[in-house]
Amino acid sequence: MSKTLEQPPKVKPVPKDVEKYAHSLLPSHHNLYYKRFGKSATVTCAACGQTYTGLIERPMEIEKSLVKVIDLPMHNTEGKCEKCGAPGIYKAEGRVKSFAYEKWTDFVVGQNLGDDFVFRAFSIKRKSRKNLKDEEEMTEYARIYLSKGKKAMEWWHRSYYGQEYWYEGNPSWYGECKISRNHYWPGTLKEIEKTPMLKYGDPERYDLIYYYSAFSRYPDFELVQKAGMTDLMYALLCQYGANINPRGKTIADRLRVNKDRLKELRERKGDLTYLHIFQEERKNKTRFTREQIEERLFLAKKHGPTDRKTYELILMHTNLHKLLAYIESQRKKNIYEHTYLDYIRMRQRAGYDLSNEVYLFPKDLRRRHDEMVRMLEKKRNDEYKEQMEKKWPKIREKSNKLDRKYSYKSGKYLIRPAMNAMEIVEEGRVLHHCVGSSDTYFQKHSKGTSYILFLRNAKEPEKPLATVELSSKGTVLQWYEAYDKQPDRKSIQPWLNRYMKHLQEKKKKKVG
Ligand SMILES: [Zn+2]
Repeated sequence: MSKTLEQPPKVKPVPKDVEKYAHSLLPSHHNLYYKRFGKSATVTCAACGQTYTGLIERPMEIEKSLVKVIDLPMHNTEGKCEKCGAPGIYKAEGRVKSFAYEKWTDFVVGQNLGDDFVFRAFSIKRKSRKNLKDEEEMTEYARIYLSKGKKAMEWWHRSYYGQEYWYEGNPSWYGECKISRNHYWPGTLKEIEKTPMLKYGDPERYDLIYYYSAFSRYPDFELVQKAGMTDLMYALLCQYGANINPRGKTIADRLRVNKDRLKELRERKGDLTYLHIFQEERKNKTRFTREQIEERLFLAKKHGPTDRKTYELILMHTNLHKLLAYIESQRKKNIYEHTYLDYIRMRQRAGYDLSNEVYLFPKDLRRRHDEMVRMLEKKRNDEYKEQMEKKWPKIREKSNKLDRKYSYKSGKYLIRPAMNAMEIVEEGRVLHHCVGSSDTYFQKHSKGTSYILFLRNAKEPEKPLATVELSSKGTVLQWYEAYDKQPDRKSIQPWLNRYMKHLQEKKKKKVG
């Protein structure tokens, strides 16, 4: 082999009684394969592999001393090997399929390695084949190495096309680690006692790998557990969420909090919210007042990320006491926090100064909220108009020429082309149809393929009534009043017909 494969750190030989323990995990009964010939039977024991024959019926007096008598074998009943004494289950040869089958189970062996420790995961497998002795095979498939103050190291063993090798795995969270941990070799506990860094652990009901991989990694685990700081202990066990620095010199350094917060942290039973607040305090090289702590508890315990941000913004301009009083006063009017947060976000978007209490704590919240909704809608609309005006400048450039060509007034109605893109947007908004919201009509109008015209009551020339798409040849392609409907079709359609006629005559005159 040319390539040197990676090797895990060395371990001690497997303790002697492990094999016996492994064997005890498998079913105690082996198969007793049998075949009957008239008054006798032949039995092969899968435990010892030996075969014997004997009479299965009460013998005649004369035969008694000459022939061995054995139990009557019956399929799937319990028996005992005449040779080795092992308990077994009789299997009629003809009723057992010839293929082999396997039974296996996994177990873990803990071993002291001086200062360090290793959990070794094994499989014990029993292979059975008809009329042959059972074979048992023990293989090691993973190891978890523990060192003081370090993250556990995980190694996996693989066999690939006959080649055996080890590779370093991703140390997972040991609550979910893939090693089967139903069985621990009983000697494991003594091995733990021999290991200085582990011997004061108290795993209670926790799984040993889960517990000791956290216990060895965090120097303060024992203290945290004994002080009853339950929340923090769970976070350490999960090895997640506590934001600990295992390499710190003192416990305060390791928990990343100011030393004078340790007492309170203990009183709070290691509450993670407090821990994180104290960590923030130390990070910012400051000391939080009681009120600052209360604010942070309020933010952490009640709200999702978006709401929390909004509350943070509010608390930049007021204090928690005032905020809570305001929320309570609104609740009495059946106005809830989400309306308030919604309102504040709109004020912020519209660029208001929230340090002004008139805006921060409005007297009539519901009304101000609805006002903001309308205001922002108008703002969005104005921005869109500007954007379309920039995008389609030709509509304005052409407007005088088109006005001369297409404007017309007769009787009840008048019609005129759109003067600019903004007008088209506004028309679409007021009449609730799509002319102002898709690029199609703007583009056609710019290119001169077709034009957007406004039909209006002659008495109310500023009020949108119907929108008309006119082809460059002077034909009405489509027209709609509000919501894409035509309630005034009876009067508008004949009028438009006259309009088209008018355009044709105008054209002829020009040519003529
Ligand atoms: Zn036997």
